[in-house]
Formats: sequence, structure tokens, C-alpha cells
Amino acid sequence: MMHTKNLPRPQFLNINLSTFPSTLDALLKENLKQINSIVKDNPHDWAHLIAPLDDLNDAIEKYWSPMNHCHAVINSPARRECYQACLPKLSAYDAAVGQNSDLYQAIKSIPQDSLDSTQQKIIADHCQDFELSGVALPADKKKRFESIQARLSELSNQFDNHLLDATQAFTLTITDEKTLQGLPAHALETAKALATEKNIPGWILTLEMPCYLAVMTYADDRHLRETIYQAYVTRASDQGPQAKQFDNTDVINEMLSLRQEKAQLLGFANYAELSIATKMAESTNDVIHFLTDLLEKSRPQAEKEFQALKDYAATMHDLTDLKPWDIAYYSDKMCQAHYALSQEALRPYFPEDTLMEGLFTVVKRLYGIQLTLMSDIEVWHPDVKCYQVLDEQKQCRGLLYVDLFARPNKRGGAWMDSLQGRRRLKDNQIQIPIATLTCNFAKPQANKMATFTHDDVLTLFHELGHCLHHLLTQVDYLSASGINAVEWDAVELPSQFFENFCWEKEVLQLITRHVETGESLPDALYNKLIASKNFQSAMGMLRQLEFSLFDFMLHQKYSNQPNQVANILADIRKKTALLPAMPYNRSQHSFAHIFAGGYAAGYYSYKWAEVLSSDAYSRFEEEGIFNPITGHDFLHCILEVGGSKKAQDAFIDFRGRKPKIDALLRHSGIIL
Ligand SMILES: [Zn+2]
Repeated sequence: MMHTKNLPRPQFLNINLSTFPSTLDALLKENLKQINSIVKDNPHDWAHLIAPLDDLNDAIEKYWSPMNHCHAVINSPARRECYQACLPKLSAYDAAVGQNSDLYQAIKSIPQDSLDSTQQKIIADHCQDFELSGVALPADKKKRFESIQARLSELSNQFDNHLLDATQAFTLTITDEKTLQGLPAHALETAKALATEKNIPGWILTLEMPCYLAVMTYADDRHLRETIYQAYVTRASDQGPQAKQFDNTDVINEMLSLRQEKAQLLGFANYAELSIATKMAESTNDVIHFLTDLLEKSRPQAEKEFQALKDYAATMHDLTDLKPWDIAYYSDKMCQAHYALSQEALRPYFPEDTLMEGLFTVVKRLYGIQLTLMSDIEVWHPDVKCYQVLDEQKQCRGLLYVDLFARPNKRGGAWMDSLQGRRRLKDNQIQIPIATLTCNFAKPQANKMATFTHDDVLTLFHELGHCLHHLLTQVDYLSASGINAVEWDAVELPSQFFENFCWEKEVLQLITRHVETGESLPDALYNKLIASKNFQSAMGMLRQLEFSLFDFMLHQKYSNQPNQVANILADIRKKTALLPAMPYNRSQHSFAHIFAGGYAAGYYSYKWAEVLSSDAYSRFEEEGIFNPITGHDFLHCILEVGGSKKAQDAFIDFRGRKPKIDALLRHSGIIL
């Protein structure tokens, strides 16, 4: 029996919402006071500056994260009110710390001779954060920098609002049911409900994602698809049904010009250079080379896939002039005709008990790590389970909370989060990390075992991959333990890496057992699953490369020329497009990832992380997927090191060389 009495026990249900914000406020004020006195009174060395800063950050994380988590998974009006009262306090605190130039100077002056490499990296990371937020600039430039920052956040908000308004302003009322032929029941129900809400007969179609996707994929009426397509790709632009009403053209141009100026103020040639300063990629050329290499290798296969689609549409459906609004529709028909594999048909093979047991067996065989259920710990909902993570020496490495099912008042999607990070305390005790794994799978009927689709299983493996990265860390400093300080374009490595196991026959044997017959996934279904995995993968690759190249080159080459955005995009499409774009296409006007999200000159990271994870996984393919040496190398070189070294160095430690794109191309069925 394990001793569990010394484990941390975060409280979720007893948070006093009425006093929470004022206590947070007091904590933050006290922290700011402490920071000032640390900087003023303490010697500027690791023990007297960084260590106490970690204490202060740790106190905030431990106080705030259970509340933050409950707001996401057991929301209520009172919780929302409390949460919203806290947000401005936290952002004011972040700004006060981030703009504290005395603190920056103090950290910068820490003597580093006697520090280990992790400590040196943490100091370098801190200094870089300060410098990129403009703290080190001379007064006049700093003023300009601050006004650029303020204007950029206004503009990104405007971009988002235009896009939202344009999306909502468009509706299409259908009165003849024949027009909607092919649409799935859930899409029809939503469209009907919208019309009923407005008291009009018929159905209302919108540009919201579920409706747009349903029409593009399933609507038999070609003209309907064209109408919705045109409205969708002209949102927030000078074209289409709402031409110039919510036009993002000026917003985009001003943002690009300000981003360029911001980058130059900080000493970079362009915004792309600034973006990669905090990423694993070493130069802008690295990124361009990486993307073009993938493009050149994928293009021939994508052309073949596209030709196959054209042939299919011509022979089976008499359609000889394939247009952009036909692609998803005929692709779906073709996929069904070739593979006829539905996710629902796989469900009975993945009951919860077998899946979880098999998943934990995979973890055990790879890393020697065991997850054991804890019964005597508070959780926020009866569905939630908490596990202790035990290593080969039976030491507790961390706690993992798993919350699998959708329910009212729980945010959608799947994600991992940290409730606390690993660190070594003053008395040499270890504070263990705690992670949460949240999904929104369909909840089973009462008294029935939950079952999962293969897509669900991929999601579960993905999120557990993130959690293990956070939980298995051996770094002693909070600023670099677990997922902290891992470069942005490498943070998806452990999660995407872990997904690979879901496609292995040996793993599927472990995690499947038919709810009625008890048999594991049969070969026939397995073969279909593998074949459907790579359907049109090169076409998908080209689409992602178009977004990535456009985003990156835009931020690398922008120079205030008229029509430059459209010209750069047109140039890239010459290499990426399989079908000429419609002249009215303004999809850049709704590219929120880069104009209203955090992905500017960083969209390539999706592909970058896929290359890393595929390449890392290929060593397992070479040496045996359950080879314990390979598993332990991955544990020691990648999972345990967190942000204590550069992701590139950690990768080379594991793979013995820099990353290569070959494995991703092979896993996508693009090269053999
Ligand atoms: Zn992820």
C-alpha cells in the first residue's frame, strides 16, 4: 500500500467565491511588494532573486489554477462572475512585472559562473521575455513601442469583430426542402431551429463552421454549395454579398506595417525574425527551407490524389469541371465508396475499461511508469478520476486528474492544464507536478460502459502525451519544469508523438475488446482504418503549407507596397494550389490565427511539431515500438528535461541528429 498522506490535495469544491477575488488581489499586491524588496534589498544572485521569484509565481499558480480549472469544467454564474473579477487583476499584475525594468536589470546582472546550464537558460529566457516586451528600449523608443502594442491589440480586436459581424450578418433562407438534400439530420435540425426562432417558415443556413462544413461536404445542390462557398471566402472583405461592409483590408495593412516597425524597434530585420526568436527554428531561412522542402516532396502525390478525385467525379457523377465548392463534397463520396469506414462502427471495440487499462499498459511498457487510481482524494465531479504517477522505484512523480465526458457547464474541446509544477523546495523536498486531462466524449447511458471512436482515442493519447511531459519532468526549477519554457514550435512533440501508438496493431490489440463478442479489433477493420488514415493526405499537406508559407512570407517580406498581401498569396498559390483560386477569394481576410490569434509568423509550427513527432517516433519503428531502451531514452532526453534545454538539443540527444522530414512524409503515405 502506498503512503498517500503526504501528497498535495488541491481543493476544488470549497473555494469561497465571494472572497476569492479580494484574496487574490491581496496576494498579487503582496507579491509586487515582495518583488520590489527582493530587487532592492537582496543580493542579485540565484538564491536571493530567482528562487524567491519562483516562490511567488508558485503561490499564484497554486491559488489561481483550481479556480481557473473549475471555471472551465463546472461553470456557474457565480463562478463566471468571480473569474471575470480576477482577470483584470492578473493582467495588471503581469504587466507590472513584465515592465519592471529594475527587476530586468537585477536578473541580467546575476553572476552565472557557478550556475548550471538549466539555471543559465532560465536567466536567458527571463531576459529575453523582458527585452521582447520593450523594457530595455531607450525612453523615446519605448514610448513608441507601447503605443504600437496598444494599437496592435485594438486592430486584432477589430479584425475579430469584423469577421464575427460578417459571419453573423449572412443568412440564407431556404423554403424548398429539396435544396437541402444530402444534409445530415443534425444540420437540418439546427437550420430549422434558427428559422423557428425568427418566426419564418423554412430553414436558415449560416456561415458558422458546423453549417458551412455540412453544406460543403453533404449538400447535393451544387448551386447552394457555390453560394455558401462564395459568402464564406469573401467574409470581411471588399468582395462577396457583404462587400466592403466589414472590410479587413485596412486593418491587415496597418497591422503588418506596425508589426514590421515593432520588430525593427527590437533590433530584428522583420517580424518573422522576431517570431522565431522564441522558437526552436534557428533562422527564417530554416523555416522557408523546411516548408518548401515539404511542398516539393508532397506536390506530386497531391496532384495524383487530385487527379483521382477528378476521375472519380467524372466517371461516377458525370462532373467534368471540378470547382472549389465541389472538393469536399466529392472527396467525401469517394472516401465512403473506397473505405466505407465509419467511426461509429469502431465504437464497440473501445470500451472505457479496456481502453484505459491498455493505455496505462502502453505507458508502463514504454517508460516503466505506473498510474494507480486514488480513491481518497477530492475531485470536482463524480466522473473525474485521480491517478498517482509512480516510477520504477515506486516514487510518486505526480498526480493526474482525468475528466473524460461532456456535460452541461463544461467548456468544449480537449486540453491538458497544470495545477502545479515540479520544483525542489528549500528543505530539499520535491513539490510534485499536478496535471489535468479534460475531454468531452459522449457520456454513456446510466449503467452502461462508455465506448469511444478511434478519433476519441487519438485525442485521449494526444492529451495524455502532454500530461506525461508535465508529470515526468525531473527539472528542479519551476520556470523550466514540465511544459514550462518549452519552445512554442516544440510543445506539441510529446502529444503528437504519443498519437502514433494508436495506429499500431500491437497497441490496438491492447486497447480494444468488443463490448459484446470480447474480440479485439479484427484485421479487416484495422486495414480499412489504416487505408483511410492517409486519404488525400498530400492535398491536406499542401493546404496547410499554403497557410504556413503565406503567413511566414507575409511577415518576412512585407514592405508597404500596394496590393502586397494579395500578390504574396498569389505567388504562393502558384506552387500550392491544385485548382486556380476564384478571383473573388479573400480567405486572407478571415485568417484569424495570424491576425487575431497568437500565430503571426508561427502558423508553420503545426507542421514543424509534426515533423519532430514523426521523426522521434521513427526511432521506435526502427528499434521496436516497445523497446524499453528507446522508451527510456525518450523519457530521459525529451519528457524529463522540460524547458531546461533548447528543444533542438533535446531532440538531437534522443535522435542522434537534427530532425528530418522523411518520417512525416512516410507516415502520411506521401513517400514510401
Ligand atoms: Zn496538443
